Amino acid sequence: MYAPPWVVNRQPDMAAIDRIAEIARLLKHSRAAVAFTGAGISTSSGIPDFRSPSSGLWNNVDPMAVASIYGFRQNPQLFYDWVYTLAQITCDAKPNVAHYALAELETRASLQSIITQNIDALHTRAGSSRVFELHGHLREATCTHCFKIYPGEPILRQFLSDRVIPRCPACGGIIKPNVILFGEQLPHQVFHAAQVAARHSDLMLVIGTSLEVAPASDIPRLALRHGARLVIINREPTPFDQSACVVIHGDAAEVLPEIMRHLE
Ligand code: NAD
Repeated sequence: MYAPPWVVNRQPDMAAIDRIAEIARLLKHSRAAVAFTGAGISTSSGIPDFRSPSSGLWNNVDPMAVASIYGFRQNPQLFYDWVYTLAQITCDAKPNVAHYALAELETRASLQSIITQNIDALHTRAGSSRVFELHGHLREATCTHCFKIYPGEPILRQFLSDRVIPRCPACGGIIKPNVILFGEQLPHQVFHAAQVAARHSDLMLVIGTSLEVAPASDIPRLALRHGARLVIINREPTPFDQSACVVIHGDAAEVLPEIMRHLE
């Protein structure tokens, strides 16, 4: 039987191609599936993840200096210098086939919601309607002094053209995109809604995440504890592989369309 070359045979008792079919079968029989996604689902859209060595996003930088709330308060210039390239790529990125496949699963199967760690908004742009953005998004930005909220895109585009730290027109305070930096609390309502979705799910598709960033990484654990089955689609092994019923070490942009073909 033909096995796609990117499928690593993690389950010796299950042929590679059968694992795609098994995921399709699980989706067909699920009544409440939830997807939990990370930066890996967007690499095919040209947005680098953080941990793959080739991305370079953490090369030669101290994450606590450039991407923590303490660093931001001390020296926002460091954050803005670091985020420049990521913002540039993210502003122009488009959803890829993996995002579109999840949007389709909402209508064709039982996918109830997407819990994402991504800030790129590509799930909503692909048409998914119930998306919990645990780490915020770039659609809005907030003045760190008077807390006035602004639409994020014009502020980012202005910053991309003049590289000047954005300031609040009302009070002159420094504006910060509504993304969650290290040391910041996750948005309470969003995190709570994601926890409820995880507790009620019977199948969780974990896609493109190293599962290294807490507390977001507690979400699959919560789903498991409440009886959900776990499917992992990631390029590299994750700490949850042993707990999953199906693991595919491959490219989400190749695996998800294969699953959709099996659902047809
Ligand atoms: P991560 O960088 O820690 O891990 C990404 C994982 O995805 C890696 O294990 C990698 O092997 C895998 N991967 C890369 N490309 C893949 C592909 N095409 N198919 C399947 N797997 C692939 O990312 P994370 O777990 O999401 O956590 C890092 C944090 O970085 C998150 O908080 C997130 O907010 C933030 N982040 C977001 C974006 C974005 O919005 N697109 C981009 C970079 C980082």
